[in-house]
Amino acid sequence: MRDIPHYVNGERVSGTSGRFGDVYNPATGEVQAKLHMASAAEVTDAVAKAAEAQPAWGATNPQKRARVMMEFVRLLNRDMDKLAEVLSSEHGKTIPDAKGDLQRGLEVVEYCIAAPQMLKGEFTDSAGPGIDMYSMRQPLGVVASIMPFNFPAMMPLWHVGPALACGNAVVLKPSERDPTVPIMLAELFVEAGLPAGCFQVVNGDKEAVDALLDDEIIQGVSFVGSTPIAQYIYSRACANGKRAQCFGGAKNHMIVMPDADMDQAADALVGAGYGAAGERCMAVSVAVPVGEETADRLIDKLVPRIEKLRVAPYTAGDDVDMGPVVTREAKERILGLIQSGVDQGAELVVDNRDFKLQGYEDGFFVGPHLFDKVTPDMDIYKTEIFGPVLSTVRAGSYEEALGLAMDHEYGNGTAIFTRDGDTARDFASRVNIGMVGINVPIPVPLAYHTFGGWKKSVFGDLNQHGPDSFKFYTRTKTVTARWPSGLKEGGEFHFKQMD
Ligand code: NAD
Repeated sequence: MRDIPHYVNGERVSGTSGRFGDVYNPATGEVQAKLHMASAAEVTDAVAKAAEAQPAWGATNPQKRARVMMEFVRLLNRDMDKLAEVLSSEHGKTIPDAKGDLQRGLEVVEYCIAAPQMLKGEFTDSAGPGIDMYSMRQPLGVVASIMPFNFPAMMPLWHVGPALACGNAVVLKPSERDPTVPIMLAELFVEAGLPAGCFQVVNGDKEAVDALLDDEIIQGVSFVGSTPIAQYIYSRACANGKRAQCFGGAKNHMIVMPDADMDQAADALVGAGYGAAGERCMAVSVAVPVGEETADRLIDKLVPRIEKLRVAPYTAGDDVDMGPVVTREAKERILGLIQSGVDQGAELVVDNRDFKLQGYEDGFFVGPHLFDKVTPDMDIYKTEIFGPVLSTVRAGSYEEALGLAMDHEYGNGTAIFTRDGDTARDFASRVNIGMVGINVPIPVPLAYHTFGGWKKSVFGDLNQHGPDSFKFYTRTKTVTARWPSGLKEGGEFHFKQMD
C-alpha cells in the first residue's frame, strides 16, 4: 500500500508518531494509502526548520522570488495531467474539475509574479525639511496554512503563492482526505528553485493543527474549512497573538426573478448545484424563485436537466458530470439530511436515495436531489449540506427573497438572475454577502481581486488572494529619515506637525 509521509526540508520524510490515517479512493470505497499523522513534536521540528530557511528567502529580492513563481507555473502546466489524476483519485471529482482546481490555484501564482510591484512600498519625498518617509512591507516570517478537502490544489496555492512571494516560509497542513497533491506542489516549488525548508508539509489532524496554533514561531495562520473549526482556529490563533484569516462554510442562495432567462437560470443552477457533487464553498444550494409561476417554470426546467446528469467515477471519461462525495461519513450525513427534509415536509422532486452505480457499489456516490417547497425552519435550509442537493424556497416577492439571503447565518456567495438592471443593482448594493453574481451562478473572483465571504463564512478581516493577500502576508514598517543637511540647529523635543 502507498505511504503518504510529510515533506520537510525538500524531502519526503516518514512520520515518527506511529499514528496513521486512511486515504480512500472515493469511487471504489477502498483505502488506497496510509497517511502519516504528525505528532506535536514533529510539527515543532518542521516549523523550526522553516524558521532556519526563511531569512535567506525573505532577503532574496522580489524579482528573483517572482522568477521561482514563473518557473513553478511552467512546471505545473507540464505536470497538469499527472496532478489531476492523483487529485481525482483522492477527492473523487472529475478530471476536468480537477484541472479547474489546479488552474484556479495556478492563476494566483501567476498573479504573484507581480511581487516586485506589489511590495515596492510607499515613499514621501520631503515630508518635512530634509525628511523623507517611506513604508515597506516585510514578510511575517513563518506562516501556517490549514486546508479543507474540497480544493486540494487551489486552496494551498491561494495561500502558499502569496506567502512565498512575500518572502515567508510556509508550513502547510493538508486535509487528511486528499493530502498527496499538496506534497507534489511543494516538490514542484523546490524544483522551480525555492530553497528547501521554505515550503514544509506536515500531515495530520487536530494534534498537528493545535501544535501549529501554539507554536511561537508561527506568525500568521490561514485556515479554510467548516465554520465551527474556522471559529475555533481564529480564537486560538488570535489568543496566541498571531494574525489569522479563517474562511468557513456557506449556504449560497440564487434568486431567480420572473423576468430571468429561465433556461439560462436552470443551466446555471444545475452546474452550480451539482458540480463537484456540491462540494464547493461557492456551490449554489438554495434556489429562490420569486413568485409561484416562476417557481413552477423553474422546477419544470430543472427536473429533466438533473435527471440527465451522469454520475460516475473520474475514470469513466470527460463527459462525467459528477463523481462521488469524499467519504462514507459524508455520504451518510448527506443522506440523513435528505431524509430530514422529507420528514420535515419538503417535497423531494428528484429522489435518488436508492442510487447505486454498478461495479462501484462500495463507492461514496450520492445521486442528485432536488427539493421544492423548502422553508427556513427546516434543517436542510439551515445546514450546509455539502452534497448534490438543491433546495428550492419559494419567495412571494423580491424583498422576501433578498431577506432570505440576508437573514441566513452564512454570507459567502449569492447570485441573482434577472434582466432588470435596477433590481440587479439594488441586490448587489444591499445584500450582506461577500461575493455576488449577476446572471453568474458561482461568482468566484479572479486572482487579482480578492475572495472572501461575510458573516459566519469568515473570521478575520483580510481576504484570500489579490491585493489583500500581500497585506496579510506582510507587515508594514514605516521609516522617517532626516539627513544632516536638513537639520536646523538644536534637537526636536516636541511631537508636532512637520513644517
Ligand atoms: P473541516 O473543517 O472538517 O477541516 C478543515 C481542516 O481543519 C482540516 O485540515 C482538518 O484536519 C482540520 N480540523 C478538523 N477538525 C479540527 C479540530 N477539531 N481542530 C483542529 N483542526 C481541525 O472542513 P472540510 O470538510 O475539510 O472542508 C469543507 C468545508 O470547507 C465546508 O464547510 C466548505 O464550505 C468550507 N470551505 C470554505 C471555503 C471558503 O473560502 N470560505 C473554501 C473551501 C471550503
